[in-house]
Amino acid sequence: MRPALLDPLFAPASSLAGIGPKLAKLLMKLTGSEDEARVIDLVFHAPTSVIDRRLKPGIAHLPEGAIVTVEGRVDRHQPAPSRSNAPYRVYLHDETGELTLTFFHAKADWLEKSLPVGETVVVSGRAEWFNGRPTMVHPDYIVPVEKADTLPTVEPVYPMTAGLSAKILRRSIESALARVPVFPEWIDPAIVAKQGFPTTDEALTALHNPRDETDIEPQAPARRRLAYDEFLAGQLSLSLVRSRMRKARGRPVRATGVLSDKVRAGLPFQLTKGQQEAVTAILEDMSQETRMLRMLQGDVGSGKTIVGLLAMLAVVEDGGQAVLMAPTEILARQHYEGIAALAENAGVTVSLLTGKTKARERKEIEAKIASGEAKIVIGTHALFQDNVAYHDLRLAIVDEQHRFGVHQRLRLTAKGMAPHLLVMSATPIPRTLVLAAFGDMDVSNLTEKPAGRKPIQTVTIPLERIGDIVGRLRDALAQGKKSYWICPLVEESEAVELMSAEERYETLAKALGPDKVGLIHGRMSSTDKDAAMEAFRSGETRLLVATTVVEVGVDVPDASIIVIEHAERFGLAQLHQLRGRVGRGDEASSCILLYKGPLSEMGHARLSVLRESNDGFRIAEEDLKLRGEGELLGTRQSGIPGFRFGSLEAHGDILAIARKDAGYIVSKDPGLQSERGAALRTLLYLFRRDEAIRYLNAG
Ligand code: ADP
Ligand code: MG
Repeated sequence: MRPALLDPLFAPASSLAGIGPKLAKLLMKLTGSEDEARVIDLVFHAPTSVIDRRLKPGIAHLPEGAIVTVEGRVDRHQPAPSRSNAPYRVYLHDETGELTLTFFHAKADWLEKSLPVGETVVVSGRAEWFNGRPTMVHPDYIVPVEKADTLPTVEPVYPMTAGLSAKILRRSIESALARVPVFPEWIDPAIVAKQGFPTTDEALTALHNPRDETDIEPQAPARRRLAYDEFLAGQLSLSLVRSRMRKARGRPVRATGVLSDKVRAGLPFQLTKGQQEAVTAILEDMSQETRMLRMLQGDVGSGKTIVGLLAMLAVVEDGGQAVLMAPTEILARQHYEGIAALAENAGVTVSLLTGKTKARERKEIEAKIASGEAKIVIGTHALFQDNVAYHDLRLAIVDEQHRFGVHQRLRLTAKGMAPHLLVMSATPIPRTLVLAAFGDMDVSNLTEKPAGRKPIQTVTIPLERIGDIVGRLRDALAQGKKSYWICPLVEESEAVELMSAEERYETLAKALGPDKVGLIHGRMSSTDKDAAMEAFRSGETRLLVATTVVEVGVDVPDASIIVIEHAERFGLAQLHQLRGRVGRGDEASSCILLYKGPLSEMGHARLSVLRESNDGFRIAEEDLKLRGEGELLGTRQSGIPGFRFGSLEAHGDILAIARKDAGYIVSKDPGLQSERGAALRTLLYLFRRDEAIRYLNAG
């Protein structure tokens, strides 16, 4: 249960005075909350810059364009002549000169009340010079001189969302801040002292009350404290989950090799050294009394699937069941087809279970899963719905793990009696991120590509030359080649995205021959998707127009060209993934990035990296540099939580300390029973890492 201390922070933001339904909705959008914005979301909404109002040079010396504060006596009002668009003007002076305040569409009575003639007032806003006269258009603040101290000297500036006013957001955050309690100290006192950390409640107050620009920087003490809290919560939750997983006595898998030898014998290729080593490491892990927790990293096309299959066969040899979970239906089906064909050589039946499996069939498969007759099960999230009960699940493999959340992974592994866990990732994650996201999970890398692969030639071509490309495609198809055509991402709307894919399909079908061109997108029924994939695989169609549904994992080895339209709209990692659809066979392949100029500096850098490198690890590192890890990890569903305060670049030193401390805590107080343990539970809830606590209680 969440400590009562935190209740005020987890109340809906609408429980704060002045936040009605409309504002609550805006705040939900602003904070990216799933259901509703909570008080804590406002408290955690950090400013990104400041407005400094301390500059008071006197009217005659106002610097053009600067934010300034002026104290002066109001001399006269010059209302706008009726029916004119001219502004309402108010004049005031100090000992150096006269300032014109300019208001458009202003309410005269409000101006008369707030700027009474003969009174001294303080105004703050942007100074501008017109015809040699200093002016201020719509001052941000107007206060009587007696209340000068209510004027904020340094104001935080927050990331905004359309329709929200800065003043209202600031006010909302202020009232949210008033709910912050005094937290128990959860950091080791020696670390607090050494780092000179303020307390968390002090840090939150300081976060929203910057005194100058340096308070906004990542190295400001308040920011470092919050970053440390965030890292500690993350690392602790990982350590707890991990120690539970480890401790749950794994059941050693005794592989006989009977089945895997048969499958190996049927392979049309030799395993690479990396694949061989990965298989060895996995079998070794699974033969232990503790649970396997291993990540298999390998660039697109490096051949992770076969490694996964050999691991699953080892489990089947020992009489157990294994599942492989993929993030999309297309990918699950493709794995199913590929794996079923190989497993047939060993007489092992493979089942497929996805969200689209028909009710009757689903019943049958579920029954087979429950009886243990289904040895290898491949599917999507459907694999761990509540009604799926496994007879003896011994190994769970998660493909393209970055697509899944930690929750989902936990749920899947909660299914069996402590199944071993292997996650496979084609998006190479830099080492620092692996540590941040998974703690010290074991990692196998497939660094080399299977033999005989030719490098993919990548070119960038402006969209205006699309006609040339279509001409070149015509020649290529005539030579019997196969090509993908990836349609642009449309951020705003899936419907528009679909339309553009359909349109592109029409024009290409017309240009290249309707029977040669196929179309696949996310809205098609699975039967239609299958048919489209199958037609392309078999060569009936030679050009497949697709949305990003083919991004991950799709494997048609003899496709050798990929055209990506509006490449500038895609992220680097995504482009690399897409490119990985070709270069999977022995044919020389090419990737054509069609871009719409002019490119932003970032867009240019992205496409250059891609043109120059085929190495997923390098690309991931470059991506990290270009975007910062926040964005790389940004999406919540990525399973690698993005950081709110922490930055791997700026705070690498304290991340290392947090990791070490988390490991120490879990070794000393695995149930978080001590006084500090209780404080740490509060920390986990505060940063919404409490899934780990559930784990702790369940154990
Ligand atoms: P990914 O790592 O991207 O999941 P896949 O497992 O889909 O890669 O493998 C890509 C392609 O390479 C498949 O067609 C697969 O059959 C083939 N492949 C895998 N291992 C080898 C190998 N050692 N030699 C040649 N081809 C291989
Ligand atoms: Mg794959």
